[in-house]
Amino acid sequence: MLEMRPVCENCGKNLPNESREAMICTFECTFCADCVEKVLHNVCPNCGGGFERRPVRPKELLEKYPAKKDPLVKPVQMEKFAARLEAYRNIAPQDR
Ligand SMILES: [Zn+2]
Ligand SMILES: [Zn+2]
Repeated sequence: MLEMRPVCENCGKNLPNESREAMICTFECTFCADCVEKVLHNVCPNCGGGFERRPVRPKELLEKYPAKKDPLVKPVQMEKFAARLEAYRNIAPQDR
């Protein structure tokens, strides 16, 4: 089951279930659309994969399958990320 993380890992912006700004990689690393576009350039700093918009879970299922409560904020360390970003930013996710 998809883990619905409540905030952007980089900037801490709230990303509730119904947010249309929540972006995830295949490992559910979760960032806001702004960070994905302007900071990460569609390269996940943790795994190198691309991002897609996170689907919204129907409200009636949230009680039984709630979004995650504890926020994970781990701002991207750009000096560490630089090599991966350079290697992948101009390669489409399906070709990485
Ligand atoms: Zn963000
Ligand atoms: Zn990732």
